[in-house]
Amino acid sequence: MNKILRNLLTRLVIDPSYFYGWEQEQMPWKKLEMQDFLIPKPPPVFISCKSGHSAEIHWLTNKQGENIPYRCCAECGYELMNLQEIRCWSPVLEPILKQLVQKFEIRGVMQAVIPNVFWKLGRKKTKEFVYIRRLLPDEREMILKELMTMPQAVVITGTKATLQKIQQEKIENLSISLEEIAEINEQGEFHLNFPIIADILGDLVKPVYKPSRLKTPPKRDQFAAKIEKLTRELKQYLKNAREHALATAKNSNIQFLPPPTMEELAKWTNMSKSSVYRCINDKEANTLKFLWDKAHDTKAILQ
Ligand SMILES: [Zn+2]
Repeated sequence: MNKILRNLLTRLVIDPSYFYGWEQEQMPWKKLEMQDFLIPKPPPVFISCKSGHSAEIHWLTNKQGENIPYRCCAECGYELMNLQEIRCWSPVLEPILKQLVQKFEIRGVMQAVIPNVFWKLGRKKTKEFVYIRRLLPDEREMILKELMTMPQAVVITGTKATLQKIQQEKIENLSISLEEIAEINEQGEFHLNFPIIADILGDLVKPVYKPSRLKTPPKRDQFAAKIEKLTRELKQYLKNAREHALATAKNSNIQFLPPPTMEELAKWTNMSKSSVYRCINDKEANTLKFLWDKAHDTKAILQ
């Protein structure tokens, strides 16, 4: 669980949203600014005083010419503030999505389906990925209507709370929240938690298996090599059979070698009998079939 990313995503549900320097929650403001996850905003005009009243911020200039902010409450009076306290930032979603797309290796052009709310991120392998920032009541119908058109898409929501809302809807999409699968560290660096993604999305994040063609030739190649071997063997057999027949013919008592069985062919070529059977009956092994038939035709052997 990562507080920094969760804080950003939680604020990003509201529009417009701000972080203020006086908040209890301390964030690595500068680092987040450098990553463009936060953009500095002008200081607020009103803030609340320690008692919770609405107080206006006044600026007074000291002798050094510096502007000093004061909180000015109608009931509690003036109070000096420091500049850091009244700093203000807005969280920005696009740089977070860019990091997600880049680190997760999602390909394609990011496209807003519903501006500011729903994005098509691109594809990874066969899956399309979409991002849903929030599911507010007035946007709900529009979002669900879009989702109906892409039941195969993987939905990534910002917060876990949005994910739970999405999962309560009648949609078929596989869904996860960015809050669960990513983090931003104290250095402002975005990281994906691949083991957690693998648990949820399985095969989608495993590396593609590329079999080596050199080590194991494709099945058809192996099969073709067997056909060639059997063809050579049968040619040799026919040559021997013809010579044997001609030699015995001189004694006017012509003798033919017994025709080979598939079992014998298998033994001679060091193959299984089933391989021999499949090769001889293969539609493309015309020569082999011709030689096989010839070996079983005594008249043909002499031709
Ligand atoms: Zn007050």
